[in-house]
Formats: sequence, C-alpha cells, structure tokens
Amino acid sequence: MKRVTVLGATGSVGSSTLDLIERNADAFEVVALTANSDVEKLAAAAIRTRARYAVVADQNCLHDLQDRLAGTGVEALGGVDAVCDIARMGADWTMAAIVGTAGLKPVMAALEGGGTVALANKESLVSAGEVMMAAARAHGATLLPVDSEHNAVFQCLDRTAPKGVRRIILTASGGPFRTMPKDAMRAITPAQAVAHPNWSMGAKISVDSATMMNKGLELIEAFHLFPVAAEQLAVLVHAQSVVHSMVEYVDGSVLAQLGTPDMRTPIAFALAWPERMETPCAPLDLAAVGRLDFENPDLDRFPALALALEALKAGGARPAILNAANEVAVAAFLAGQIGFLEIAAISADTLAGYDPAAPDTLDAVLAIDEEARRHAVERVKDCVA
Ligand code: NAD
Ligand code: MG
Repeated sequence: MKRVTVLGATGSVGSSTLDLIERNADAFEVVALTANSDVEKLAAAAIRTRARYAVVADQNCLHDLQDRLAGTGVEALGGVDAVCDIARMGADWTMAAIVGTAGLKPVMAALEGGGTVALANKESLVSAGEVMMAAARAHGATLLPVDSEHNAVFQCLDRTAPKGVRRIILTASGGPFRTMPKDAMRAITPAQAVAHPNWSMGAKISVDSATMMNKGLELIEAFHLFPVAAEQLAVLVHAQSVVHSMVEYVDGSVLAQLGTPDMRTPIAFALAWPERMETPCAPLDLAAVGRLDFENPDLDRFPALALALEALKAGGARPAILNAANEVAVAAFLAGQIGFLEIAAISADTLAGYDPAAPDTLDAVLAIDEEARRHAVERVKDCVA
C-alpha cells in the first residue's frame, strides 16, 4: 500500500488524482487531503477515501469542516500551518496540486518530508526553483513532474547520456486565441479565456494558457527540472495537444510522448512510477486524429511568452516577480477589473519597476513575491482608474 496525500484535492488536478486513487483503492492508503475553502467537496472526498486527515487552509472554514466530519473518523484540521505540517509528515507520495504561490510553503514542507512529490504546482519551481531543487536534494525527496509537458520530457529523457540532449521542445496548444488577431484580443472576456479547446483545467492555468504565460512558466519549470541550459529550451505550437513534448538528441533523434489530452495519464505515471498503471483515459487513435500540425509561437501576439523567456534568461529574482505579477493580473482579469491584454502589460510593468537581488531561501522568495504583488496591485488600480 502506498500512503498518499493530495494537496489541493478539490481542484482539477486534485480531483483527477483522487479519481485514479479511488479506482485502485487496494493500492493506496490516503493519509490527508487538503483544500483552500471548498469544505463540502473536501469532506465528501475525505469520507469516500477514508482519509486520516482533512485540512482546510482557510481557518474560517474549520468549524464547518469539523461539523461535516463529526463521527466519520476523519480528523479535521485548519490553517496554512496545518497544511504544511501535514505535508511535512511525509506520506510515501504527495500530489502538490495547490494553484499559485499558495503552493510554495506546502511544496517545501512535502520536500522536507523526504518522500516522492508529484509536482503539478509549477509556480513553486518558477518562483523558487533553485531553493526547491536544493531542498529536494538535501532531504532525499524524489520530484516527479506532473505537468503534461514535463512528464513527457521525463519519459523521453535518456538518463544514461545527458550530454546527448540537444534541445527540449515543449509543445503548446496555443490556447483558445491561437489564431486571433491582436486587435480582437482586447475584447476577450474571462468566460472566453477559461474555455480551453483541449484541456479542462482550473481558472488560473486556463487564463495562463490563453495568454501563453503558461508556456513561459513551463520553460522556467523545465529549466529547473532538467539538466539543460536556457538556450536548449524551445516552444512549438501544436494545436491538437497529442504530442505532449519532445527531446531532441545530438544524433538527430527526436523522442516524443503522445497521448489523448487527459491529465490522468501523467498523474498515473507519477502515481505508479517506476511502474505503470491502467487509466480510464481514451486510447490515442491517431488515424482518427489524422494529422498533427506544428508552428512557431508568435511572440508579438503573445508577449507573456516573451516576458517569461527574458525572465528565464535573466534568472535571479525575475521569475518570482513575473509569477507574482501574473497571478495578481490574472485574478484582476477574472474579476473583470482589467482587460486581457493588460495581463502581460502589468507583468511587464512590474518587472520594469522592481529588481531585487536573487533569493537564496524560501522566505526571501516570498518577500520578493509580496513586494511584486504590491507593485502589480498598484498597476491594476491604474488600469481601473
Ligand atoms: P484548481 O484551481 O482547479 O485547484 C486548485 C486547488 O488548490 C484547489 O484544491 C484549491 O482548494 C487549492 N487552493 C487554492 N488556493 C489555495 C490556498 N490559498 N491555500 C491552499 N490551497 C489552495 O487548479 P488546477 O487546475 O488543479 O491546478 C493546480 C496546479 O496544477 C496549478 O499550479 C496548475 O498550474 C498546475 N497544473 C494544472 C493542470 C490542469 O490540467 N488543471 C495541468 C498542469 C499543471
Ligand atoms: Mg502543462
């Protein structure tokens, strides 16, 4: 029995993870499930999976959680510290599927626990890549990438010959506005932006996919996960989302991982690793897909990707600032306060106005994140005014 914990159990990735765990109930013992505030969904999942703990990050929701779990045998806990304590307890396997900067402390805690951490929360590697990777090494934790592109690269990487890698090519769907002229992008609504053509995901990452900031964040994520230089990372737009990414070798070989766009495939890979497990994912029918198209990204229409490329190359605090500003801007866009094109503009302004030294601890990263948020919030106010 693998003892598993799911951080962010009520979200899109968290729910897909629980779906696989529940289909293989004999193989997994659920230690803990966490959520931000969706107490109803959290309590139901904890009862179904017979979790030992259910943890709600928002302390105000603890009473409600306790009421729902009374007499069930599941212990209710509340607060951010409780999420981290539970993550640090060290299950054999922890899914890190909290969205955004809120995931940083829990991911660090899970790495300190020294088990296997299946990482969906890309923001923790974008903002604190060096710090997180060092913690994983120091505590003997195993980091398995769940992001579909990075999971694909992980599967294609020949670890016996790391010098043989020429390039890592991340594929991008291009999102819902792949072919939209820039002028028309001004009028994009939140409802349009969250409607991804291929993947069903949480609101924040869906907007990130629409601006292509997601692919930029993924370049930075890949830089920390894999032994390559920034110049060896490339992006290729591939609208069908069948090829999930590729590794190109110096001999001309290119290895790709393919599959239907269903996150349960990379999640299952991480759950069963180093073995494989069955999933209910539709088998890939290439004859039905018919054709696979590829094109280079358009950095003019998708300036967020260009910003992330700059942040990747500059390193230091730049990725953490970008991540924080983007998170503020995406939230403001979803709240109807700013337009679609202003998301990247606010990130660019924040990067231009704030240039601290490179962080070497998680606290330093979080201080940079906080300051960048303050800058970005001011930019949002300028837009609203
Ligand atoms: P989601 O919005 O559907 O779920 C987020 C989860 O995090 C929820 O369980 C929520 O309760 C929890 N959460 C939110 N704020 C929190 C806080 N302040 N404290 C504690 N918990 C909090 O998001 P998602 O789409 O499942 O994405 C989760 C992560 O996985 C993101 O980092 C995303 O980039 C990454 N990811 C998602 C997908 C996908 O298909 N959805 C694919 C690749 C990577
Ligand atoms: Mg991805």
